[in-house]
Amino acid sequence: MIEDAAQSFGVEYKGRMAGSLAHAGCTSFFPAKPLGCYGDGGAVLTDSDDLAEILKSIRIHGKGKDKYDNVRPGINGRLDTLQAAILLPKLDIFPHELVSRRRIARNYTDLLTAQNTSLILPGVFSGMKSAWAQYSILAQDARARQAIQDRLQENSIPTAVYYPTPLHLQTAFAHLGNKKGDFPVSEDCAERIFSIPMHPYLTVADLKKICSILHVDNHAA
Ligand SMILES: *Cc1c(COP(=O)(O)O)cnc(C)c1O
Repeated sequence: MIEDAAQSFGVEYKGRMAGSLAHAGCTSFFPAKPLGCYGDGGAVLTDSDDLAEILKSIRIHGKGKDKYDNVRPGINGRLDTLQAAILLPKLDIFPHELVSRRRIARNYTDLLTAQNTSLILPGVFSGMKSAWAQYSILAQDARARQAIQDRLQENSIPTAVYYPTPLHLQTAFAHLGNKKGDFPVSEDCAERIFSIPMHPYLTVADLKKICSILHVDNHAA
């Protein structure tokens, strides 16, 4: 079993860390992820020595003991040295950044709840700690979401939609024959979800400004 931990580096699930929940966990260091480098990067995590050996071989074109003897088909999966140089010090401060992300998420929720928002805020199940890769909210409907995004944009506050098209409606899976209406919850979320800024260096003033703009729009929409 392979775990997709691309957005969950730093997550705790019942006392275990994301990336350690399956035979292998894959994470991403793309800039938008909780531990981001400045370009492309990622890692596979496993506690199996045998699997680690195979993965290291696949990473470098399927190399064997002799690097010019390829023993299996592989890929070029090397992590660039420059990206590694950026990631190492960021990894050192990552635990502190996680604390900040969790504090910021709590502040967002407290501020928005105090405004009696009708937006649906993200929650975390008990026994789990999120890495808050995103702080994603559900608006009432697609129209309300657009109005909120426009208003935030007017105030130079970026938002993003993760993700606008559910898997079953992606062209790549068209051959499976699914159509609109087959997965109504996914489709509904895709029309209503949006993410507000989330990173460890947001100030309380930033959060208050973002929440006050969300508040106004929430009532106008
Ligand atoms: C970002 C992301 C990926 C892809 O990561 P790459 O570094 O672009 O390969 C895969 N799965 C999830 C859930 C992601 O968020």
